[in-house]
Amino acid sequence: MARGRFPGAGRLLGVSGVPESLAIVGPTVVTMNRERDVIDAGTVVIDRGRFVAIEPDVRDPHTDRRVDGAGCVLLPGLINCHLHSRPGRALGDGLSLFEWHALYPDNLCRHMTEADSRLGGLLAFADSLKCGTTTVLDMTCKPAGAFAAAEEIGIRARIVPLAADAEFAGDGACDVYSEFIETLAEHPTQPDARVQYWLGFDSISGVTEATLRQIGADARRLGVGIHGHMSESQEDAGWTRRERSLPAAVYLERAGILGPRTVLAHCNWLTGHEIALLARTGTSVAHNPTSNMKLGTGIAPIPDLLANGVTVGLGTDGMLSNFHLDMFEVMRGACLLQRIHRLDAHALMSWDVLEMATRAGARALGEEREIGSIEIGKRADAILVDFRDVHLRPLVRGPHDNLAALLVWCARGSDVRTVIVDGAVVVEDRRLLPIDEAGLLSEIQRVAGRLLAAIPESHPR
Ligand SMILES: [Zn+2]
Repeated sequence: MARGRFPGAGRLLGVSGVPESLAIVGPTVVTMNRERDVIDAGTVVIDRGRFVAIEPDVRDPHTDRRVDGAGCVLLPGLINCHLHSRPGRALGDGLSLFEWHALYPDNLCRHMTEADSRLGGLLAFADSLKCGTTTVLDMTCKPAGAFAAAEEIGIRARIVPLAADAEFAGDGACDVYSEFIETLAEHPTQPDARVQYWLGFDSISGVTEATLRQIGADARRLGVGIHGHMSESQEDAGWTRRERSLPAAVYLERAGILGPRTVLAHCNWLTGHEIALLARTGTSVAHNPTSNMKLGTGIAPIPDLLANGVTVGLGTDGMLSNFHLDMFEVMRGACLLQRIHRLDAHALMSWDVLEMATRAGARALGEEREIGSIEIGKRADAILVDFRDVHLRPLVRGPHDNLAALLVWCARGSDVRTVIVDGAVVVEDRRLLPIDEAGLLSEIQRVAGRLLAAIPESHPR
């Protein structure tokens, strides 16, 4: 699809070309560095896409551009470790995971084109950016369209084409791995590019063991990460025990999938041995609490994973499976789920989920040296959360500190005012700069109507 379809598409202010220097003046800076340092009214300077100064006072550093951060909290951009961008949303409420997957994701993937995927990507990434997410790990059956969308809109993205070549994958499963890997081998994405390809699989039951081994070998050869689902539902976890006589994590380890560049989504049904195996291999988990609650699939043992040293990032899951892409909702959901499950108000704390949404998410992607915190030398991905509203006051610092609690329990994606990716402002006063939002809304409405006309209606009312 032509880039010029939406007026303004491709004009990524500061994304293409040399980014301008920029100062954010006066915000409360939540650095999410190792010490979790907070600066109450600081100045953060960005030059050529990286943080170059973090000052503990309000000053004018004479940059090309100045953003007023007074009354706001500056956070590192949030990192969504599990997303499926698609040109649909909120379909099949009340269906079980397998019924829903067969009806909507499989059918949509069968009918949608790369141009449709680009529109779905623009919708998902626009929503993500406006809610404060600057990096996504996006698993999709039409990767080229999603890749183009991420490049256009200015988000940092790792796009994961799916392998699904086994008989259990189902009729509508979309297998693009084999055709895709040749292209990727010939045209590898640069390791420092804002948008890159990873490799991956949808479900373990949907991919042959030979292909799993191939994915592991190809990922190591190309130096990219691996993303897949594991043990989302009890039925899902039971498949490898029944068909392979092994717990899922053990099966994946033997297939060469586990390792420090692998992120497994869900992991709701794990044995102690599997947790130890994830820890020993450096494999990370993408936790999707609101998706798991919405689909009724299970509760991941997050405190056990953290206690064993497994890196846990947070994800929304897809707009078809979870409906919303607001990482503030996900942070809140993560705390709520563990606390009620364990009947323990201390089971998961606000600072810990803030870390999972930022620094730990970066570590899960193998990119902690580049993103995930506001530190000098790192890539400048940051968001301004506007605290000048009744649901975010009073802010208290000191002995009764409520900063992290306000961010996790009270803030919403719609409180994000400014979003910066790679030093470029992509959302300003809640307005998305790189694309024409009104044009996108009418296009997505038209495409969704066309795709859904081909799918039978069968969901409970
Ligand atoms: Zn998923």
